[in-house]
Amino acid sequence: MENKNEEKSVFVYADNAATAPVMPEAIEAMLPYLYDEWGNPSSMHAKGRIAKAAIRDARERISAIIGCEPDELYFTSGATESANIAIRGAARAMREVYGRRCIITTSIEHPAVYETCRELEGEGYSVDYVGCNASGIVSVRDIESALSATHGGAALVAVMLANNEIGTIQPVEEVADVAKRAGALSFTDATQAVGAIPVDVKKLGVDMMCFSGHKFGAPKGVGGLYIKRGVPMARIIGGGEQENNIRPGTENVAGIVAMARALEVSADLMRDVERVRVMRDRLIKGLVAAIPGVRLNGDPDMRLPGNVNVSIDGVSGESVAILLDMKGICISTGSACATGTRDPSRVLLSLGLSREETDSSIRITLSHTNTDADVDYILEQLRPIVMRLRKLRTGNYDGQ
Ligand SMILES: *Cc1c(COP(=O)(O)O)cnc(C)c1O
Repeated sequence: MENKNEEKSVFVYADNAATAPVMPEAIEAMLPYLYDEWGNPSSMHAKGRIAKAAIRDARERISAIIGCEPDELYFTSGATESANIAIRGAARAMREVYGRRCIITTSIEHPAVYETCRELEGEGYSVDYVGCNASGIVSVRDIESALSATHGGAALVAVMLANNEIGTIQPVEEVADVAKRAGALSFTDATQAVGAIPVDVKKLGVDMMCFSGHKFGAPKGVGGLYIKRGVPMARIIGGGEQENNIRPGTENVAGIVAMARALEVSADLMRDVERVRVMRDRLIKGLVAAIPGVRLNGDPDMRLPGNVNVSIDGVSGESVAILLDMKGICISTGSACATGTRDPSRVLLSLGLSREETDSSIRITLSHTNTDADVDYILEQLRPIVMRLRKLRTGNYDGQ
């Protein structure tokens, strides 16, 4: 949308959960693999060997940061592809090997996981979508009961690490533990967590985990999938032998190199995470104090450092987002992935919000790229916008 605020031309990007600004370091790192070293990593000649070495190097650096062995990390085009490969591949293998055809997941997963599970229902799997409490946390006990209620045992438990809409951080360590005790595999969608908070797959204890480069400063179209050694996996995509047969197709060498660099820089920036958390809390407190009828969605503590999701009584979140855009502020309604559809957010409904409350919600997601001045500007712009929209709705043009 065009920025009509020419005279001031302030620009605040506060939609980091949708995608993060590409880091200059990532661009620097990838350029040599676009200009000169554009070889195919599968080629035996010199050009191919250089590309292959770049992937090996990136694999070692990324696996060191997420705490796995290099041969447990697979490169993909992003979290959606990773989730599809992991969930479909593990479900099929567990069905073939053990006759298990139950999947347990949650009602608040990203569509990459949720819709994949919905499709598997049509392929003879039974899926249990466990809900969350009013603050958006999934209960380990509910996962346990779902596990014991399955017929023939569960194949897979998929619970996300951090939610993309409300930022809630789930007890994935405990979930992985109960899954293991029930003989099921565990998968976590860590796309919002990797790069934002420290993530160690061995500590989490999951069998599989996905993430996406563009959520932490790499360009779009590159992601990762951790698969623990020995996890049964059916091949989902047919083709060559790249990525140990798990993800055939010529590798995105430059993207992979950029992702390694972006993750290293993100790991360095963990020092800065407290500053992001302080900005987040100042924004939440400021909104609640300045505007009556503002409520935080999700848990105040078990929450990503940059996530603010609020419902604002008596306005449409979409109108707020459009008016903020005209002031040079980029935010989202409920979820960027659901924008364009008129459906209310499935995640917000899971919290027990009414249709009206879901429609009145906005998501503001900060990162290390944001400043205190950004928070000030959002706070300054938001109140008059909300007051104006409320007046329009009630037809009361008096007052503030
Ligand atoms: C963004 C996101 C995805 C999808 O990532 P893509 O790179 O678009 O495939 C999956 N899960 C979560 C939690 C996300 O935030």
